[in-house]
Amino acid sequence: MSDCLFCKILEGEIPADIIYESETAIAFRDINPQAPTHVLIIPRRHIATINDITPDDEKLVGSLYSVAKEIAATEGHAEDGYRVVMNCNEGAGQSVFHIHLHLLGGRGLGWPPG
Ligand code: 5GP
Ligand code: ZN
Repeated sequence: MSDCLFCKILEGEIPADIIYESETAIAFRDINPQAPTHVLIIPRRHIATINDITPDDEKLVGSLYSVAKEIAATEGHAEDGYRVVMNCNEGAGQSVFHIHLHLLGGRGLGWPPG
């Protein structure tokens, strides 16, 4: 998608602090972190929102959680806890329409979220 910010990061057109790369996904630090650790995990395949996920995407989307688990452990949050969340559409705060998991850790996280 030529007008997608995260596709541009995937293509190297926009720089990012990329901390993980595989054939199917990458992870990079959020430009406006909401916690000491705030990493975005995205599939290489452009999928705009959760509403656009198809059965063919199930393995890919599931694999994003495995990446989150690995990064959370690397960042030292496995025991203390962390949050993994994906927003869907503007009403839930989605601002970039290429699905991404937010991995947040390193501080207490209230529930329910705002
Ligand atoms: P959303 O609001 O869609 O759930 O999350 C989008 C996230 O992307 C936000 O947390 C925002 O700070 C982050 N973001 C927006 N633009 C950029 C950018 O150019 N680089 C990086 N690394 N993160 C960005
Ligand atoms: Zn995209």
